[in-house]
Amino acid sequence: MRIAMIGTGYVGLVSGACFADFGHQVCCIDKDEAKIDGLNQGKMPIWEPGLEALVKANVDRGRLTFSKDLGEGVKNAEAVFIAVGTPARRGDGHADLTFVFQAVKELAKVMAPGAVVVTKSTVPVGTGDKIEAILREQGVSEFSVASNPEFLREGAAIADFKHPDRIVVGAEDQRAQDVLKEIYRPLFLNRAPILITARRTAELTKYAANAFLAVKISFINEIADLCEAVDADVQDVARGIGLDNRIGPKFLHAGPGYGGSCFPKDTLALLQTADEAGIDQRIVRTTVEVNDDRKSSMVERVQRAVGGDLRGKRIGVLGLAFKPNTDDMRDAPSIPLINTLLDRGAEVRAFDPIAQEQAEKIFKGITFSPDAYSAADGADAVVIVTEWDEFRALDLDKLAAPMRGKVLVDLRNVYSRDEAADAGLAYYGVGRGRPE
Ligand code: NAD
Repeated sequence: MRIAMIGTGYVGLVSGACFADFGHQVCCIDKDEAKIDGLNQGKMPIWEPGLEALVKANVDRGRLTFSKDLGEGVKNAEAVFIAVGTPARRGDGHADLTFVFQAVKELAKVMAPGAVVVTKSTVPVGTGDKIEAILREQGVSEFSVASNPEFLREGAAIADFKHPDRIVVGAEDQRAQDVLKEIYRPLFLNRAPILITARRTAELTKYAANAFLAVKISFINEIADLCEAVDADVQDVARGIGLDNRIGPKFLHAGPGYGGSCFPKDTLALLQTADEAGIDQRIVRTTVEVNDDRKSSMVERVQRAVGGDLRGKRIGVLGLAFKPNTDDMRDAPSIPLINTLLDRGAEVRAFDPIAQEQAEKIFKGITFSPDAYSAADGADAVVIVTEWDEFRALDLDKLAAPMRGKVLVDLRNVYSRDEAADAGLAYYGVGRGRPE
C-alpha cells in the first residue's frame, strides 16, 4: 500500500515508520524544513526509544522516505493520513483545526482519485464531515474520509503502535474500511482487535478515552489528599483498588497532576464539543479544575517542606519532561512548579536525562545540572518531578551529602519515608500518610 503521512511529529513519524515496517511504502511529509532535512540525514527530531533504529532500517530498505513537498509525497498515495497538531485554541480550549484544514486544502490539489483521507490527529466530532466538504469545494469528487485515532503513548510509542489494545476505524464506506484493514493487516494477524465504527463515533472515542484516563488520575490525586488528612497511604489504596479487575491498576499513581500534549487539550476540547451540543459534562469539567489546581498547588508542598519561605532557598529539581522516556515538555507539571519557585524567590537547579535541551527553550534563570547529584549540591530540598528510571535507584546517601537542607519532596512516590530517613532526609511524598 502506498501511504502519505502529513505531519511528521510524535505521531506521524512513529506511525509512518511502523507502517513502513509492516511493508508499506510510506512518505512522511512535514512543512518544517529543518525536521525533514534532519531526517534525511538520519537525525531524529524527537527522542523516542527505538525510533532511530526503526527509521534507519526502513529508510535503508527503501520503504520510508521524507519530503517537504506535499504534492510529491501525496500524488500516488492510496491512503493519506493527517497527523498534524491540533492544539487547544487560545481562550476557549477548542481544538484548533487550522493545521488540519490547511493540510486538506493542500492535498486536495494533488491527491490521486479514490484516495482515502484518514485523520490520525485527534479531532472533534464532525471534523470528517468538514474535511469532506472542503474536498468537494476544492473540486475533488472521488475520495473517502475516515477516522483512525491514535492511542500510542510517548515513551512507549513503537510498542504501543505495534501491539495496540485496539485499532479504531471510523469509516462510512466499504472502500475506506478495506484500505484501512489492508494497512493494519499485520496487526490483525497478531489478533489486535479492530473496531469499525461510524466516523463520528471514532472521533469521539479518542476524546472519551483520554478524558476517562484524566478522570482516573484526578480521582487518585484527590484520594491522595484524603490519605494525607486521615493518615492512610495512597500507594496501598491504589493497589487495593487496582487489583480489582473492574478498576485495573493503571493510571492510579498519585502525583503532580497530568500534563503532556494530549490530556490537557483533549479534555478541554471535549468540554467545548459538549458545550456546543448543549450537554454538560460535569465529571470532565471537574477533572480539569482538579488538575489545574493540583499543578499550581505543588509549589505549596515544596514551600511547606522548606519551612514556609522559599526566598533564598535552593531547590534541586529532578525530571522536567511531562513523563519519563520522552523529551516532550508540552504542559509538563515542571513548568508551573519551577516558574512559581522562581517567582517566590527560590533558586532552581534542574536535571533531566533527555529533555534538558527542550527545557532550555522554556526556562530562563535556572541552572541545568549534568546529573541528579549535582542538582542536589547545596540544595535546601530536592524535588522529584518526573519518575525517570534513573531516579528510582539513586544513592540517597550520595544525594543527601552535599545538600544544605535535608529534604526530599517526592512528587512521584518513588521512595519510602524509611529509605529517605536512612539517608537522613525528611520525606514528603504524595498521599503517604499525614505529612510531618
Ligand atoms: P507534533 O506537533 O509533534 O507534530 C505535528 C507536525 O505536523 C509538526 O511537525 C508540524 O510541522 C507538522 N505540520 C503541521 N501542519 C502541516 C502541514 N500543513 N503540512 C505538513 N506538516 C504539517 O504533534 P503530535 O504530538 O505528533 O500530535 C499530532 C496529533 O496526534 C495531535 O492531534 C495529537 O493530539 C494526536 N496524538 C498525539 C499523541 C502523542 O502522544 N503525542 C498521541 C495520540 C494522538
